Amino acid sequence: MKIAIVGAGLVGCTIARLLKDRGHDVVIFEKEKRIGGLCATDVHRGRFYQLFGPHNFHTDNESVIEFLCRFSKFNEYTHYVGTFVDGRVLPYPISYETIEMLQERDQILKELRRLPKKINMANFETCVVSMIGKELYKKFIKNYTMKFWGILPANMEAEWAPKRIEIRRDNSLGYFKHEWQGVPHCGYSHMLEKMTEGIPIHYNVEIKDYRDLKYDLVIATIPIDELFSFCYGRLAYRGLRFEINFEEAEWEDVKYGCINFPDSDVAYTRKCNYSLCYPNGPVTSCIVGYDFPGNNSSMYPVYTSENKKLFNKYLACLVRIKNLLSIGRLGLFRYYDMDEATEWCLDNINAVENYPALNLEERMELLTKVR
Ligand SMILES: Cc1cc2nc3c(=O)[nH]c(=O)nc-3n(C[C@H](O)[C@H](O)[C@H](O)COP(=O)(O)OP(=O)(O)OC[C@H]3O[C@@H](n4cnc5c(N)ncnc54)[C@H](O)[C@@H]3O)c2cc1C
Repeated sequence: MKIAIVGAGLVGCTIARLLKDRGHDVVIFEKEKRIGGLCATDVHRGRFYQLFGPHNFHTDNESVIEFLCRFSKFNEYTHYVGTFVDGRVLPYPISYETIEMLQERDQILKELRRLPKKINMANFETCVVSMIGKELYKKFIKNYTMKFWGILPANMEAEWAPKRIEIRRDNSLGYFKHEWQGVPHCGYSHMLEKMTEGIPIHYNVEIKDYRDLKYDLVIATIPIDELFSFCYGRLAYRGLRFEINFEEAEWEDVKYGCINFPDSDVAYTRKCNYSLCYPNGPVTSCIVGYDFPGNNSSMYPVYTSENKKLFNKYLACLVRIKNLLSIGRLGLFRYYDMDEATEWCLDNINAVENYPALNLEERMELLTKVR
């Protein structure tokens, strides 16, 4: 089959490699002049850093590890996160270790003993309060969520909260719970260049209309509303602007790769030290990134009920077209981490390869089973 892939991010490159390995004639179109999409990396004075915020790979899936290790060695790196609360940095995710450090410890433990048996999924706020109690919600989650997403937590869907928010026994594995954690030794862009060896990539080509691509199968990894020229309206995404200081003199909280700032006295939501996962390069300074939330780019799907309805309209449109597939974080409007994105490609490669032959129900099943 002749297959065109739109987008040279992690998903575009992964699916391209898998299809090429099965003997298909694959080509990639990428609107930027570089590979990597959201996980793109660059190098400054011999030290790698991520262009769009810290990207730490974490998984327990052996197939994912085996697949990625074909293209890169990985630096082992456990990502520890802190949150700036009550004038000091506390370990995050919230753990019993964190609670012990708080003045309101007794009140919090009382609230935890009285939590409802069932999580209240009415909205994001009710969900989190029913999982961790009011006091912890107020201190760690409420302001950060408003600052990050720019909307009231009560107006957000609860869907992803149980996956992201919890109280842990301890934080020995760091922010992520998987045993296998790290970053590609020479950055993600280098790993993806290796992954796509032998596959032509046309850079600086922005696909405006998928119908211009005369291929047996077109696989898009771009925002699904953009794919359909916003015919039903725009899905809401949240973006970030990144300011990077390449010569930050010191990083006082050596253990933490990132520090969250829930309060509004600083405009950034987090401050991240890239030098911890890429320890090569000059040792006298750190590369530190500051994340400023905004609506300037499409990075995080905003989970509201209106967006969900709108996404479903686009999905209904998509499955009626036999040779067009929309996948990846923005193509499926899903808050995917890189392990899930890679896993999706590995698990569904047979269905992707046979997509034009699937019937409407089978196509819908493929695209909705992940949601
Ligand atoms: C700030 C941030 C931090 C993150 N941190 C982590 C982390 O620590 N760990 C983790 O596992 N995951 C993390 N993620 C998630 C991770 O970035 C994604 O899961 C993954 O990169 C998604 O890859 P993708 O290929 O689906 O999308 P993308 O990377 O968005 O790729 C889409 C590609 O399509 C191109 N494109 C768009 N429109 C067009 C067009 N019209 N024509 C041609 N090309 C086009 C884009 O330029 C881009 O290269 C993070 C995400 C963000 C935003």
